[in-house]
Amino acid sequence: MSSIKKALVVGGGIGGLSAGVALRQAGVEVDLIELHPTFNVYGVGIIQPSNALRALDSLGLADRCMERGSPYGPVKMCAANGFKFAETGTPPMGRLPVHNGISRRILHDVLHEGAIANQVKIRMDVTVSAIDNGPDAATVTFSDGSTGVYNLVVGSDGVYSQVRGLVLGDYKPRYTGQSVWRYAFPRAADLDTGYIFFGKKTKVGLIPMTADRMYMFVVSAEGNDPKIPEAELVPRLKALVADYEAPMVRAVVDQITDPKGVIYRPLETLLLPAPWYNNRVLLIGDAVHATIPQLGQGAGLAIEDAVVLGELVQSGDPLPTILENFMNRRFSRCKMVVDASNTLGEWEQLEWQGQLPEGANMGALMGKTLGAMGAPI
Ligand SMILES: Cc1cc2nc3c(=O)[nH]c(=O)nc-3n(C[C@H](O)[C@H](O)[C@H](O)COP(=O)(O)OP(=O)(O)OC[C@H]3O[C@@H](n4cnc5c(N)ncnc54)[C@H](O)[C@@H]3O)c2cc1C
Repeated sequence: MSSIKKALVVGGGIGGLSAGVALRQAGVEVDLIELHPTFNVYGVGIIQPSNALRALDSLGLADRCMERGSPYGPVKMCAANGFKFAETGTPPMGRLPVHNGISRRILHDVLHEGAIANQVKIRMDVTVSAIDNGPDAATVTFSDGSTGVYNLVVGSDGVYSQVRGLVLGDYKPRYTGQSVWRYAFPRAADLDTGYIFFGKKTKVGLIPMTADRMYMFVVSAEGNDPKIPEAELVPRLKALVADYEAPMVRAVVDQITDPKGVIYRPLETLLLPAPWYNNRVLLIGDAVHATIPQLGQGAGLAIEDAVVLGELVQSGDPLPTILENFMNRRFSRCKMVVDASNTLGEWEQLEWQGQLPEGANMGALMGKTLGAMGAPI
C-alpha cells in the first residue's frame, strides 16, 4: 500500500507526462499542471534508444511509439563523403529495436493519450506560485489562486525549472558552445536506418521519423553568441551542409527553404548535485540533468526517472526512503550520460579546430556509455 496518496506533477513535457502515468499506475491520484494554454510541440523528431523504449514499455507505451514512429537498427557513422566506417547504438533489449525515431509531436500525443487513459487530471495554463514544503505535506498555491495539498510534488518543468528555484536554489544551465539545427523532410527511399556524417567543422544526422518522414540535425560551433535572426536561418543552415559530398545529404539541401521549419537550439547542460529533493518535492528530467544530445539520451533519462519513481512509490516505503532510493538508482546513471555527452561535445569542438587531444577516442566513449545504458535501471 503506497504511502503516497496524492501527487502533483509540474510540467506536461516528456518527463512530466511519463511521471503522471507511472504514478497513476502505482495507485496515486495525480494532478498535472502545464504552464502553456495549449501544447505546442515542434515538428522535428527525437531519437529513442532501446533503454528509452524499455522504460516506455513498462508504462505500456512503447508499442504505440513504434507503431507511430519508425524503429531502426544501429546508427551508421559515415565520413562527409558517405563512406561508412562504424555503427553504434544502445544494446538491443529483447523484442525492442536499437532505436525508434519519432516525431516529437507524435511522442507527445502518445504520452498525453497515455496520461488521459490513466486518469491523470491535467490543467493547462497554470503554474505554481508558492510551495509550503513541509516534512509531512506540500501545500501548493497555484497561479490561478487555487491551492492543493499533496504527499509528493514532482518538478518536471524543464531546464529553466521554476520548481527547482523554489525548493533547491538558484541553478542555471551552461551554454556549451555548440548549437543544433533541425529540419524535417519527406523520407528518402534509401534511409534504411539512422545516419551520422562527420564533416570538418560540423556533423549531420539523418534520422527516420515515420514511414514517410525523416529529419536532419546539424551540430555546429557558434562561439559565444548563439543567437541567430530568423532571416539567416535558411542560408546559414545550407552553408553548414554545403561541403558534404554524401549523396544522402546532397539530396536534401535544396529542400531547405522555410525559415519557420528550421528548429535552431543552442545546447545547454546542467547537472545538479544530489539530492534532487527537498522534503516533499522531487525534481526529475531536464530540471536536474539536462544533457546535450550527443548520445540521444535526455528524454530517455526523463522517462526512466518516471518509471523508477513509480516503482519506488509502489513499494509502499515512506517518502524519505523512496527519495533516497531514487537518488541511489538515478544519480550516477544520469551523471554518466551528462558527463560523457559534454566530453563528446568538447572533443568535437576541439577536432573542428584541429586540436583533438591525443587519446581522445569519441567512438570508444560513445560505445562504452551507450553499452552501459543496457544495465537495468
Ligand atoms: C536539440 C536537442 C535535441 C535533442 N534530441 C534528443 C534525442 O534525440 N533523444 C532524447 O532522448 N533526448 C533529446 N533531447 C533532450 C530532450 O528533449 C529532453 O531531455 C526532454 O525534453 C526533457 O524532458 P522534460 O520533461 O524534463 O522537460 P521538457 O521537455 O522541457 O518539458 C517541460 C515541460 O514543463 C512545462 N513547464 C515549464 N515551466 C513550467 C512551469 N513553471 N509550470 C508548469 N509547467 C512548466 C513546459 O512547458 C514543458 O511542457 C534533445 C534536446 C535538444 C535541446
